[in-house]
Amino acid sequence: MDTALSKTRVFRFAPSPNGLLHLGHALSAILNHDLAAACGGRFLLRIEDIDPARSRPEFEAAILRDLAWLGLDWEKPVRRQSDHLAFYRQALDRLKALGLLYPGFLSRTDVRMRVAACEAAGGTWPRDPDGAPLYPTEERGLDPELAAARIAKGDQHAWRLDMDKARALAGAPLFWVEAGAGPAGETGTVLARPELWGDIMLSRPDAPVSYHLAVVLDDAAQGVSDVVRGQDLFHATAVHRLLQTLFGLPAPRYRHHGLVPGPDGRKLSKSNRDTGIAAYREKGGSPAEIRALLAGDGFVLD
Ligand code: GLU
Repeated sequence: MDTALSKTRVFRFAPSPNGLLHLGHALSAILNHDLAAACGGRFLLRIEDIDPARSRPEFEAAILRDLAWLGLDWEKPVRRQSDHLAFYRQALDRLKALGLLYPGFLSRTDVRMRVAACEAAGGTWPRDPDGAPLYPTEERGLDPELAAARIAKGDQHAWRLDMDKARALAGAPLFWVEAGAGPAGETGTVLARPELWGDIMLSRPDAPVSYHLAVVLDDAAQGVSDVVRGQDLFHATAVHRLLQTLFGLPAPRYRHHGLVPGPDGRKLSKSNRDTGIAAYREKGGSPAEIRALLAGDGFVLD
């Protein structure tokens, strides 16, 4: 069916309420909003609050305040990930039923010690695109009964994706369409290499669903056609394409934008109070000045 509605493009800004919005977030939000407006599309806001240890209601309130001050308007109601835990759990169960997940019992310290021992012996431990060591694969073949007994005993574990099995099930190489660019200028049709991330964690006791899983399920549930976000998530897209394929979900178009440098030329962080949107507002700045600042950094906003 080729209705006008099915062609409506859907954009979203999806902040995690674990800090204040900075100029980089403003860029993402403004781009999504303006691109949607330019094509008569929809602009959604999604609050990604699945990590209970880091998410705070006061940050969510600050995000809404800052976005409204920037002059942006989004569809209501806003989807909040913590309201959909059962939905994510069902998806995890599907992956478990496919035999793609296994419980990983190694703690961060266990992994750190293995990495240190390997490096001390002159070896190279593989690292993901963010520089974190890959999780060892030794537990993939753990006897399921033994694993179940450990879980029943209360041993701490996280559910991990067996990357080799998942890629084998997904089949042919995966690609995505990149309308922006990756950190090395990758654009157009990009080959997804989820294997660079190793056996990613999809659920852990204190955060029942990982960012990767929730973002993929939500983008599909909300009919998102265009994902516009910072280049720091460029390589994560490979994992998203793999999960989309395993669940039979459509692939959005992706557009990764450059990261806004801080005054010292370094990456902005949520703890960087001086470059927060709220700080500009409190100093008497205007939304037009924020747009001018971003344009001055070479970001095209229209
Ligand atoms: N929640 C993520 C963040 O704040 C962004 C997710 C996305 O745009 O895919 O970094």
